[in-house]
Formats: sequence, C-alpha cells, structure tokens
Amino acid sequence: MKYKFCDHFPENLENIDIKDIHKLLDGPTLIHIRGRRDDALYLSTLLHGNETTSFLMLQRLIKKYREVELPRDLIIFIGNTEAAACGMRHLPGQADYNRIWEEGFTPENELAMDVINYAKEQNIFASLDIHNNTGKNPHYGCINVLNEQFIDLASHFGSHTVYFTEPHNVQSMAFSKFCTSITIESGKPGLESGTRASFEFVDKIFNMDKLEANPARENPEIFHTFARMLVDENANIDFENTPCVKNDLSFLPDIDENNFEVLTKGTQIGFARDKSFISVKDDFGKDLTDDFLKFEEGKILLNRTFIPSMFTKDVFVMKEDCLGYIMELMIPTT
Ligand SMILES: [Zn+2]
Repeated sequence: MKYKFCDHFPENLENIDIKDIHKLLDGPTLIHIRGRRDDALYLSTLLHGNETTSFLMLQRLIKKYREVELPRDLIIFIGNTEAAACGMRHLPGQADYNRIWEEGFTPENELAMDVINYAKEQNIFASLDIHNNTGKNPHYGCINVLNEQFIDLASHFGSHTVYFTEPHNVQSMAFSKFCTSITIESGKPGLESGTRASFEFVDKIFNMDKLEANPARENPEIFHTFARMLVDENANIDFENTPCVKNDLSFLPDIDENNFEVLTKGTQIGFARDKSFISVKDDFGKDLTDDFLKFEEGKILLNRTFIPSMFTKDVFVMKEDCLGYIMELMIPTT
C-alpha cells in the first residue's frame, strides 16, 4: 500500500465535508509544503477515521496558510480516508492505523514504514498526532519518552500529561525514535472546543523558533499509564449499574466521569455476572485483576486506589481497546 504524495494543499480540502475526503484524496496522503525554515512540523491526522477533530483542525490551518508563506516546512499525513468517509475508526478488515507503526506484514505496516522512512530523511522539528476519545476526558498530551523536549512539547496542550509505552506501535512512539513527538487527545470528536484547542496548539508549535516549555505550566503533572481494564469480547454490556441477570456486565451510567480523578479502594464501578468478564492486565500482559478488582455478591469493587483515563461507554472501543487505562502519578526522572 502506497501513500499519495502532494507538494501543495490539495484543492478544496479546507471546504469539503469529511464524507467526501476519500473521493478527493483516494487514499492515505502525504503532503510536504516548503516553508521559510526547513525544520518541518509533522502533522498526523485521521489515523482513526471517526476522530474528526484532526480534520477540522487541518481545514482551519489550510484556511490560514493557503495563500501565505509558511513559517517552516509542513508535512501532513492524512491517514485512513476510507474509514473517515464512513465515520469509522477503521473499516472491518482494515488494520487500526494507529497500531501499524512498526515492521510487519500487513499493507498498512508497509505504508507506515514508507511514511517513517520519508520523515527520517527530513529535519523534523516536532511530530503531532491528533486524536479524540470517546469518554469524558480533559484535553491532554501523551508522550512515549520522558525527557525534557517531550515534556516541554506536552506542556503546551492541557494541564495533564500522560506517559505510556504500550501500545508500542503507535505513530508517536515510532517518531519518538528520531524526533520530538506527541499524541494529543482533544476530547470527543467534532467539538468546537477540541478543534480550537488543537488548532491553537498546532499553530503555536508551527511558529515557535525553538521548543520551549509553556511558562504557565512549569511543573506539569505526569501520569504513567501502566495497565488496562479489559472486558470479554463476547460480553453483553449495559450502563445501568444493576445486578446482572441477563447481561454480563453492568457499569455505572457515568463511569467516564471518573477520568483523571482519584478512584479510591472500595469504590463500586458496576456489576458482573461472573468475574471472568472483566480483567486487568499490565503493559507486559501480566494479570493484575486481583490487585485491582474484587467481586462481592456480583458487585465489581476496586481493590486499590488509582487514577483512570479514557474510561469509555463506547462498547466497540471498550472491546477493541479497553474499558479504561490505569495510571499512577509520577515525577519525571530526568
Ligand atoms: Zn485515536
């Protein structure tokens, strides 16, 4: 699978509806436009087709810069146009475009390696990958390397920063090997607040002489994601928080309100028909269910205090990725 290459903003891209994006671009597209300086800003968009904020942000960026000289080179990757046209994370049978950034045997792995090889030959100032999530979360940046440059970059987006190393095959991880990179989580798809925040972040980095920390956020809190809460892929799930008779899992109706809040030991997050329907695994696949959960009369109780992120009520995402991530607060070691 090969990307299309373009050395200018594709005509009319800033005006179309997202459902027409595949008609316009006909597949994954890499755009490289020369600017005043050659240390390029790399933007990664629509790796997940239903996460529309990256597209809306890009339209705003094109409207601002189509007719003027760019402050520096701009490289834009537009990922899964087919899924984006259908409003899906990825199409059935397609790989998840944010789990392909490593050597592998799928056409999507090959595409990702070609993009990496192109980027490696450039002088990349920073790589920004823009995403949405499905639960209620603040805006935050995710980094995969704990050094000053990455922390400084993250300090410009939201008041929290998350550090993770799994999943390891995401875009920001692959790019972290040769440039400063970040994934930003800009809330739920399509909201004006997320589009505005991501546009302001991108435009600020685009115009920055050299990467410096945001003075308004000198000591950012950094959370380390180290485990995930998983549900059985065949489980029937509701959000009524009632004892399970027909369904297998019944979570709190507002379970996603707890993201980035401290959840204390003993808190009930729902009911399970059987404990086998829910588990906790760390980054290495080690089972931590008994550390984190205990089951009493069908209730799912927390056995440990922790901070979650990305708790979701989207059952598709829950089964494909997870119910939520488990984090600990950390002090940077550098
Ligand atoms: Zn995403």
